[in-house]
Amino acid sequence: MLCNICREGLQGIWDPSKARRVCREIEFDEKLKEDERFHQAPPSHVDDQHPTHFLFGHHPTLESYLQSVADGCVMCCQSRHNGMEIDQEAAMAELGFYSLFAVGLLSAYPVMSIYTPNTRFNQPLKMFDGSPHDCNLGISPSTGDAKAWSLVQSWMDTCVQTHGRCNQATDFIPSYLLELDDLGGSFCLIPADQLSTQSGGPLSTLPLAYRDAFAVVKRLGLRHLWIDHLCILQDEPPLSNNKIQDILSNSFCGIGATGSTLPSSGLFTKREPHLITPTAFEFPLDAKGNTTLLKFHRPEMVHFKDEPLIQTAKGFRERLLTPRMIHFGTSLISWECHGALCNEINPGGILHGPGGYTNIEGEKPIVISEKYVVGKPIRAPPRPAWKPLIHTRPFSYPLGNPKKDILSRWFQLLPEYTKCTLADPEERLVCLESAAMGMKPHLKEQGCDDTYLAGMWKETLPTALVCYACGSANRRPRYRAPSWSWAAIDGPINYEEGLSGSFTTQSLCELVDVTSRTNEAGLVIASNLTLKGKLLIGKSSPNPNYPDEPYYETEMGIDGLLDPGTGADVARVPDSHDRLQWSIRFDTKQDVKEDIHLFPIITALIREKWPQVYGIALTKLDSGAYLRCGMWSICPSSWEESRGLFCGLPDSKITIE
Ligand SMILES: [Zn+2]
Ligand SMILES: [Zn+2]
Repeated sequence: MLCNICREGLQGIWDPSKARRVCREIEFDEKLKEDERFHQAPPSHVDDQHPTHFLFGHHPTLESYLQSVADGCVMCCQSRHNGMEIDQEAAMAELGFYSLFAVGLLSAYPVMSIYTPNTRFNQPLKMFDGSPHDCNLGISPSTGDAKAWSLVQSWMDTCVQTHGRCNQATDFIPSYLLELDDLGGSFCLIPADQLSTQSGGPLSTLPLAYRDAFAVVKRLGLRHLWIDHLCILQDEPPLSNNKIQDILSNSFCGIGATGSTLPSSGLFTKREPHLITPTAFEFPLDAKGNTTLLKFHRPEMVHFKDEPLIQTAKGFRERLLTPRMIHFGTSLISWECHGALCNEINPGGILHGPGGYTNIEGEKPIVISEKYVVGKPIRAPPRPAWKPLIHTRPFSYPLGNPKKDILSRWFQLLPEYTKCTLADPEERLVCLESAAMGMKPHLKEQGCDDTYLAGMWKETLPTALVCYACGSANRRPRYRAPSWSWAAIDGPINYEEGLSGSFTTQSLCELVDVTSRTNEAGLVIASNLTLKGKLLIGKSSPNPNYPDEPYYETEMGIDGLLDPGTGADVARVPDSHDRLQWSIRFDTKQDVKEDIHLFPIITALIREKWPQVYGIALTKLDSGAYLRCGMWSICPSSWEESRGLFCGLPDSKITIE
């Protein structure tokens, strides 16, 4: 929904008696003139009284603004900067308001900007042609009712009839399956090689989520269901990682109890349609009364990434491997398959592309005569190791190089995967392993080294060492993974922009050798990484910009790099530099210390303008080997300097455990 202040303000932009014009936008914020990204001063030929020139009054007080946030106004909610409210800003108070707004109307896409104290928030106003395919304004009261199901059925029909990659069925059958009886009132557990009933009972004896899953199976016209808790028998050994991979990737469809945390809470939920349904709104495009329809979502109601299942490593694995998955969320049903990402609000697709479909396959529709055929090979392009996921950056921006595309999909996956919580610390590597194994043949086909060690591809070493922990992480015992792998710590990791593969880079070290052995459970039992390059000494100092912010506890400044042999300066932070540009991010709070060993890995020229050197920080062990404790980066003054900085130093061979 949209609050009255936003609604009346937007509708009145052409009429000064309706929306109060408090000043000219360009006069208000001097900063706008400095930052060209935000500088949207209208060209001089635009009529002097055009709304684009002005700032309009918005909420009169903080209380009024917070009331709109509490009511769920889309614009007010989104402009609420980190939830940190500042009482009032002098310049705005002088004009008589807590917040102000502006509109941009000179490009193809109108924009509303909301000014609250210290922040400016820009939100594109999404035009809407009124078609239900583009935006569904008819959300029903339950995710379990017939109206909601009709959308799921339409996604399923499109997927089965046109997505070759989703329909590469095999003959694989899990050791045990649950079978629904013909009338749908009871179930039984059957081993793959027998049709006789082993055990079972009335559906009413099952937890609600399982009964709901059977209801979905029945609606799909199917009879069999695999539920880990019921189909992995207690007196048999636990399923291997490979078995689970087989079961998930050969399934017809995954059913996610995405919004619930307990089997007893069920798949389906009731909802208030008016809170979820997007607001459609007539927006005046000009003074003559021409309007366009806009749509507004209440984004916090559709935050798929916050759903309980989405945040777990096991849930992530199910999403990656099942060819298609129906997510029953806390307020919406969503759909993920190789060819489409949809939810009830965006039934035609959450992403870009014709009709919203990602169109990743780039293939002609494949029509199969019989619905849901299992066991018949269908001609289709080979299925990638995993399907695209909602809220994971799509890989549909190919770099034009198949090898880079495969690896960049991996680097897009890792930051999302590492955000997931683990039921057991050992899951960190195990749940990603199936995706990695599926990726191997694709790498091999491109002539890459397909060696996969402790969560890292040998092909990407040593560059891939330069990841960092987002915020403060915890280090895990060394048996899980060697210190040089991201899997050695818990919590999200990420890579710097400069390592994305689209900028000019030059390696500053050499991979001599890497080995890693894992046991049957996928845990690393021995590993070594040997690099040849330049070893330096550095001193870290507390981050001067955020001394008391817990998020920055592990992010420190670096004053300079020293030659460990002579103690002479190799590079020193220029006085003019922003200190954060010479920084080190320790992996965990326990890793933070003043004196550190620094090992340069790579230098990159960002946007062909800004040179940056990246490396890893190390702690020396008594044995002479090293442990990784963080990553660092510095900005030399030129590209030449960044490549030549360490030339005068002797080469060192170091081993990282
Ligand atoms: Zn509002
Ligand atoms: Zn599909």
